[in-house]
Amino acid sequence: MRGGTRLALALLPLYASGCGRPSVGFVHSRTEYVMGTVLEVRVEADDSALAAAAVDTAFAVVRRLDRLLSNYDSTSELSRIGREAPAAVQVSPPTLDFVRRSLELADRTGGVLEPTIEPLVKVWGFYGEHPSVPDSLDRARALSLVDYRRVRVDAEANTVQMDSGMALDPGAAGKGYALARADSALASFPLASVYFDFGGQLFRRGTRTVDAAVRHPRADSVVISVIRFAVGSLATSGDWERYFEVDGLRFSHILDPRTGRPVPRRWGVSVWHPDPFIADALSTALFVLGPDSAAELLRRFPEAAAFFVEPDGDSMVTHRTSAWERLEKR
Ligand code: ADP
Ligand code: MG
Repeated sequence: MRGGTRLALALLPLYASGCGRPSVGFVHSRTEYVMGTVLEVRVEADDSALAAAAVDTAFAVVRRLDRLLSNYDSTSELSRIGREAPAAVQVSPPTLDFVRRSLELADRTGGVLEPTIEPLVKVWGFYGEHPSVPDSLDRARALSLVDYRRVRVDAEANTVQMDSGMALDPGAAGKGYALARADSALASFPLASVYFDFGGQLFRRGTRTVDAAVRHPRADSVVISVIRFAVGSLATSGDWERYFEVDGLRFSHILDPRTGRPVPRRWGVSVWHPDPFIADALSTALFVLGPDSAAELLRRFPEAAAFFVEPDGDSMVTHRTSAWERLEKR
């Protein structure tokens, strides 16, 4: 991890924005609300009907995954796995793949990415409008239901099984997974470029680069880093999306499965990775770990580039990996 750069504090959401240079051929783009946020799909092709068909395909993939994986829809396959536990629940191949790969990443992150965090998120009230500090007994009970190692996947029978009371939360990497599947579905289209902006997570595959800005967590108009890439995805996790405050102390929606509490004193983490699923999962995992404990995890993901924004008194301090420095536009 590189040493801190100090920047004065101004004042709201950090997320990334992309911009491209003049394009060739037909550019087709559409923006729709899906998975609880806004997805923009933009593709370039020599043929306008083909570009439009590619955009349709990308949205169809993401909408199908939303139906399968939403934990806000009690009839989704992911919800059924929890609701019908401890029964082994038969699911379709994308759900099985999402669960299997989430468990693998949980393992690779030493469990700080915790796909079974759902009971804990629920007890803190982060699925609803009024989150609050839970009773310590309720918190302990919820925490006892959080353990990805107690999820059993049977790839032959296409079933997922866990203990009664456990449930899966796709929040940390569902959007990134959907981006990866949407891009794979476009592989058979002869496109000059693909660009997605999914609620701030960017994905790009093309020959020309895009610039992506990271904004100050407390001052939306202030850009604190810009990276440039032609391929890959930039995901951000931060403390401003869902939070509440008690006595000036902020409790935000990313929870540390080791303590059962929101991660304290953290602002934001941005991660670039060629695979949007891994970028999304790592941004959440690194938010839990913080810059001081990130090195070991980042060694297991040599392609990842990470940028941390931490509070420092009235100011802020940033940390970037050397891989981030190589992508950074100066
Ligand atoms: P965003 O919701 O802005 O995309 P993240 O990708 O970081 O942010 O995902 C955060 C969401 O993941 C939370 O709202 C919650 O539903 C879930 N979550 C919280 N803590 C964890 C954790 N330690 N591991 C996995 N998922 C988590
Ligand atoms: Mg994430």
